Amino acid sequence: MNKTLRFGGLRLKENRFSANAWIEKTHLPRRVYIPLLQHSGKPAKICVQKDQLVEEGQLIGSADGNLSCPVHASVSGRVISIASVSDHSIVTIETGGSVKNWYAKKTPLEQLAPKDMIERIRAAGVVRLNGESVSEASNLEKATGSKIQTLILSCFQTEPYLASVYRMSLEKCEEVLEALNVYRKMLSVQNAVLVFSELDLELIALYTEKAKGLNNITILPIHAKYPQDEVSLLVQTAAGKEIPLDKNPWDIGCYAIDVETLMAGMEAVLYQKPLIERIVSFTGDGLNKAVNLKVRIGTSISYLIEEYGLPAQKKLLAAGGPMRGEEITDRNKPITKYINSVIFLSPSKKYVVSNDPCIRCGSCVELCPVRIDVPLLSRLCELGRLDEAVGNGLSTCVECGLCAYDCPSRIPIVGFIKRAKKLINSEN
Ligand code: SF4
Ligand code: SF4
Repeated sequence: MNKTLRFGGLRLKENRFSANAWIEKTHLPRRVYIPLLQHSGKPAKICVQKDQLVEEGQLIGSADGNLSCPVHASVSGRVISIASVSDHSIVTIETGGSVKNWYAKKTPLEQLAPKDMIERIRAAGVVRLNGESVSEASNLEKATGSKIQTLILSCFQTEPYLASVYRMSLEKCEEVLEALNVYRKMLSVQNAVLVFSELDLELIALYTEKAKGLNNITILPIHAKYPQDEVSLLVQTAAGKEIPLDKNPWDIGCYAIDVETLMAGMEAVLYQKPLIERIVSFTGDGLNKAVNLKVRIGTSISYLIEEYGLPAQKKLLAAGGPMRGEEITDRNKPITKYINSVIFLSPSKKYVVSNDPCIRCGSCVELCPVRIDVPLLSRLCELGRLDEAVGNGLSTCVECGLCAYDCPSRIPIVGFIKRAKKLINSEN
């Protein structure tokens, strides 16, 4: 039996409709709408003006603090507006001018010292592309202060419909292994564990073959349950170590990363390519043909719907996966660094919430991968009893949504938890 979660979790129906679709590069959109807040931390500070001409990859927002990230123009063109939205700006660029070939010049890895590599990742605005949106450079900087013994690479996603990691792992195997070397050098670590879902037999065979003769690489198939690709749970499964509360993977000698962020990091290090595009799966049971698109950051979802002839009138459109994704009400919303999918779903009762009382069925407790007394935590959060919520596992919750998934009373548990976390953050 392959390794799996020690507690809770659920094997959800995959519905990976775009798994067989090659990644397609999209046409240049007429305009891009680039928010200066696409990361955790403060919004980037605007550094262009209206009517200014910009080149693809040019800095348009500089990082404001260590956790913040710079933001770059994803196309060449003219800045036609800078709009303020709550706490940050959105820069609109009308496309025109040259398209850059980022891969024309490569820096040999042996010429780069680890600290210069991290600086390149910082300058490129790389964030975790698995939805966490945390600055990768800030993670790396903290990790290099610890002795890393194992680099853990996640080559699977457990949330239904998502296929970007699968396609990238399949189509870019050589590059993934090269990127792994970049990270091994940057973190001064030899041992790497590549983790796959046991169902992805072709990936396991491919990497086993390609990694032959490479030292210190372990291929680890696991019995993947949702939300096992979450970093703390991944480390637990791959390295057999638990991360103590308020600690990070590097505090226990591990660095865990997903394959998409690893590739973005490699492109920043070797080609000085900023994070200006990402893979997005357009998928769901509301589509006849699911696709995986390489999209410029700032491209509007409505442009892609039109360009690819996708149905415009579906009732529910979610981004980020049905378990953790947000409902999209405005289809002019741009693709940002943290949007890995756009899902066309029929309305489902899973999305209906109610105020029915908890019947203490225990389903949420059984599914919770981090062993929280969910009904208690949910109630404390609902009532705003924040100190007690913290004492009952609020910060341990990985917001996977499993507890609410099968709740017969359809209690919006994760909504209560997220709201409580937000309240605590705003008080600090
Ligand atoms: S959302 Fe939080 S409380 Fe609910 S199952 Fe996931 S980790 Fe447990
Ligand atoms: S699943 Fe819902 S009804 Fe059942 S114990 Fe949890 S909160 Fe209560």
